[in-house]
Amino acid sequence: MTFDEFDLDRRLLLGIQSLGYAKPTRVQQAAIPEALDGHDVLASAPTGTGKTAAFLIPAIQYLLDSPRRNPGFARVMVLAPTRELAYQTYDFAKTLSQHTDLRVGVITGGINYGSHKDILEKNNDILISTPGRLLEYMDAETFHCEDVEVLILDEADRMLDMGFRSFMLRIADESRNRRQAMLFSATLEGRGIIEFGNHVLAEAVFVEADAPRSEVSKIVEWTHLADSDEHKFAMLGHYLALEDVKKSIVFVKTKERLELVVNQLQAMGIYAAYLQGEMPQDKRLKAIEKLKSGKSPVLVATDVAARGLDIIDVTHVFNFDLPRTADVYVHRIGRTARAGAKGYAVSFIAAHDMLIMKKIERYTEQTFKHRKIAGIEPKNKESAVPAKKKKPHKKKVAKALAKSAKKKTKKKK
Ligand code: AMP
Repeated sequence: MTFDEFDLDRRLLLGIQSLGYAKPTRVQQAAIPEALDGHDVLASAPTGTGKTAAFLIPAIQYLLDSPRRNPGFARVMVLAPTRELAYQTYDFAKTLSQHTDLRVGVITGGINYGSHKDILEKNNDILISTPGRLLEYMDAETFHCEDVEVLILDEADRMLDMGFRSFMLRIADESRNRRQAMLFSATLEGRGIIEFGNHVLAEAVFVEADAPRSEVSKIVEWTHLADSDEHKFAMLGHYLALEDVKKSIVFVKTKERLELVVNQLQAMGIYAAYLQGEMPQDKRLKAIEKLKSGKSPVLVATDVAARGLDIIDVTHVFNFDLPRTADVYVHRIGRTARAGAKGYAVSFIAAHDMLIMKKIERYTEQTFKHRKIAGIEPKNKESAVPAKKKKPHKKKVAKALAKSAKKKTKKKK
């Protein structure tokens, strides 16, 4: 299948061609025709599957099919959980629509209020925004959602996790003139995502796009048992000195740990950029740019960077600390092996990490075989984890939920 087969506007096809994609990904093949037909879409699609184009392409096609008649606010609204994701989606939308007259704008926190004036005043067609700042503009009545015709909630699970549920409901409620809504979520497990989808979507078509096996297998996952932080630093130093470790992201659990790792790397003569939650937007963008340009070959990050960060040639992801949940592990390692490249994910596992390591093994359906580095082998062995009661497998639960969601939404027809 090719993009030509979707019968898209020539100007949009030119935008797609500039990205050099040979063919649509699975989620694009499944979602684009349904969205072009005007259906609401509920998609289970993690980052790395091509989900952004899956909602932007039909949204742009809609705007080209039915040009704006009256001046007003944005007609396509994309809500994203993090600033990084919002900016990436914005760049993507600009590229796709570069041969059209459509205007694209982005609103996030961390930017001074004056610079959003143009986006709010002019006929902006596509608005990408994080929830917080948009809420301020809605409260101040400098923005309203009545002109929104296509509402897209990207990484909805993450936004629910971040406590934006009532805000998302408010947007859905206030964009009452919309003709279509699309909800994209990395998983449909837990977090009330199905129930939320049922509330916001009407007669939604369900689309599932687990990353195809071929894409998953491009990430090589290695684990090392670690005796202490010193041991972790010795292993990290070993890796960073290897020639094929060209661009890496080192994930840590907390801001304090971030400082520790950045300082220690510096002491080892490695200059690392860093990224954490409370940084102003310009500093964040600079840090990302440093990694992108290769000025800093290492970026140390807390989990704020685990989603959305799309840097094509990250060769290695290091989990200096394991994350708290298995799905965050999958998001973290997905920062490498982007756009078909091969990538490595290396995790250091301390004695207190055994429980979460087992959870990650169950979630990713594999058993880690720990590697050793000559001269810095671990002294400790893997400690036993108490057996857990058998529960139905999460994926099966998600599938069942998704099926029931599909049935319910179809029944409304
Ligand atoms: P996403 O899931 O939207 O974060 O996209 C993940 C990566 O896949 C991005 O680097 C996209 O540029 C890339 N991508 C999206 N669609 C395609 C496609 N059809 N073929 C190849 N790469 C793609």
